[in-house]
Amino acid sequence: MRIGLYPGTFDPVTLGHTDIIRRACALVDRLVIGVAINRDKGPLFTLEERVAMVEAECAKLAEETGTEIVAHPFENLLIDCAHDVGAQIIVRGLRAVTDFEYEYQMVGMNRAMDASVETVFLMAEAKYQAIASKLVKEIARLDGDISKFVSPEVRVQLLERLGKG
Ligand code: ADP
Repeated sequence: MRIGLYPGTFDPVTLGHTDIIRRACALVDRLVIGVAINRDKGPLFTLEERVAMVEAECAKLAEETGTEIVAHPFENLLIDCAHDVGAQIIVRGLRAVTDFEYEYQMVGMNRAMDASVETVFLMAEAKYQAIASKLVKEIARLDGDISKFVSPEVRVQLLERLGKG
């Protein structure tokens, strides 16, 4: 059984994330979405809210792809989380060159800790490539239209959280 772990903050989950999830489903039998607590990033949504949003998006994708998808909150090291969920593969999305430097370091460090876990990079479809949760939140705060970046359900929750519901 091939198990993949796709980690992130998902604050909130975007159409960029779901595009990567759909692609990752073609590579594994079970995909675990690791939702990081990430206190440092000062998330807008609580861990529980982010997990619930990821679960709602994944229910649609699991049906569409036939792959089992589960959301798994984690607070420990990524490589330990991979061990906990039995993942042989870590999936990351790559946007632009700016992502590369950080990802390059992460792979190196994770490989030093456990060389048997492979990291796989996927790119979203062109129209989703520029999407970043941070920018979606900024656009929503400034009353911009975010319907091209998140699902209708996430849009409603984000607008409500920002007091614009
Ligand atoms: P960020 O790292 O921007 O805070 P997340 O931690 O939620 O975002 O992202 C989790 C993973 O998804 C990372 O590997 C990130 O590069 C990837 N990702 C996010 N948005 C996109 C996108 N639009 N296209 C491709 N990958 C993406």
